[in-house]
Amino acid sequence: MDYVEFNATVRPARLAIRDLAQDLVLSYSEFDDRVARCATLLLDCGVTAGERVACLSHNRAEIIILHWACARTGAIFVPLNWRLSQAEIVSLLEDCQPRLLVADGLAQALELEYFDIAEVLARAANLSPWRGTPVPADTPSLMLYTSGTTGRPRGALLTERNIGETALNFALLGQVSVDSVFLCESPMFHVIGMVTSVRAPIMLGGTLVISDGFVPERTLERLGDPQLGISHYFCVPQMALALRAQQNYDPARLNNLKALFTGGAPHPAAQIMEWVDDGIPIVDGYGSTECGTVFGMSLDLDTIAAKAGSVGVPTPRVEARIVSPEGVPVAAGESGELQIRGDNMTVGYWGRDEDYREAVTGDGWFRSGDIARIDDDGYFYIVDRKKDMFISGGENVYPAEIEALLVRYPGIQEAAVIGIPDEKWGEVGCVFYVSDGATVSAEELSAFLEGKLARYKMPKVTRRVEELPRNSAGKLLKPSLRQQYQDGKA
Ligand code: ATP
Repeated sequence: MDYVEFNATVRPARLAIRDLAQDLVLSYSEFDDRVARCATLLLDCGVTAGERVACLSHNRAEIIILHWACARTGAIFVPLNWRLSQAEIVSLLEDCQPRLLVADGLAQALELEYFDIAEVLARAANLSPWRGTPVPADTPSLMLYTSGTTGRPRGALLTERNIGETALNFALLGQVSVDSVFLCESPMFHVIGMVTSVRAPIMLGGTLVISDGFVPERTLERLGDPQLGISHYFCVPQMALALRAQQNYDPARLNNLKALFTGGAPHPAAQIMEWVDDGIPIVDGYGSTECGTVFGMSLDLDTIAAKAGSVGVPTPRVEARIVSPEGVPVAAGESGELQIRGDNMTVGYWGRDEDYREAVTGDGWFRSGDIARIDDDGYFYIVDRKKDMFISGGENVYPAEIEALLVRYPGIQEAAVIGIPDEKWGEVGCVFYVSDGATVSAEELSAFLEGKLARYKMPKVTRRVEELPRNSAGKLLKPSLRQQYQDGKA
């Protein structure tokens, strides 16, 4: 019995899904029934175990129904990032070779052959429910493409065991329960949407509220709406920043919110503290497509304040360690690569065994590619991506540390630092920043950073830009900044 079937049995009338855009509500019993009929449809269409069912759609209830139907029948659900260009989407489809592409209107604009997601599920409603034996939990049911921040996106295969482990640990850290109402606005092609936001409430018999997108002003209305009763929300730091910038931002209206999660990118401690000062429990969750939820911490405001900047301690049954370039665990306080091991971890990259062998050590540790450190209390801090570190005068410099300080400079809205070649120091920092109009020199920044940063970390060059390059998942693209610098375009 999977979680949907279990909840449909023990609390059939409980509200499982509320899809705001479609004005659709499903109890657990209705949700389970739709999954079972959709499973029949997949089998009728000849989808066999291990085959991929790709999906290109804005968030909607049918995505979740399809995924559960795949999980029951052994197919692999592949939600695709609709913000990608046509060429990128075509290349992902070529990579995963789906048996079916199910989509909303997005696919029509791209001139792809597809089945309409609403029609498919309406057709399934006329079929009888499939109640066969579900496939074992170690079978992949989901393939999520990584963001491609550091290279080509790779399809990480996740089994129901991987997903369950991440969802359970996330529920534990976020105090998600049968009474929770979780608003999911993160796209369901991403781990934050499809795994944590969707699975945690569904697993525990809570309610999942689905929105078709993030519109900051509207989101604040929803978070403060007593009728909806939203208790949990998860977004990336950029979205959190946008929420605070709205005129209708009023922390007093968010008192039903039990936890606000951010993750997917560094969240400067100064910004976390603004939420804490407003009395809102916020958790900076580190995770990845490959490993889902890795760390967790308390929702107590004093603890969050004391550990602002930390991503917490490893969640139950997830191991995390920091190692030197030689692969030896380092002492507390020292930086090194973060490695992760546990049932949360992907079982492979689709069609890329070689990449997977490189990503995982012989004894099963996933090399995250992130630099981190641990404090004396066992709390982890993400320092930066390994690939973004540069060396100035023989010393390692981590741009994220500088960036977190730069956003406190008056007038600077966003900043990104890269290492550029320098005759004297080997490499020095170059700041790309977005400002309210003023230009800022390296000398001015150095004066501001004096006493906050070691001398060798001081940026030597600044470039004002209209916006920072981000990929379709909103992630900063440092390779593109390096290219811009090289091309002298910046
Ligand atoms: P690719 O692997 O294709 O280059 P990606 O690493 O961006 O893309 P994701 O799985 O979407 O793929 O992102 C995971 C990465 O995001 C982590 O390895 C880390 O670098 C970053 N990240 C996630 N959460 C946090 C956080 N809380 N603080 C800092 N960085 C984070």
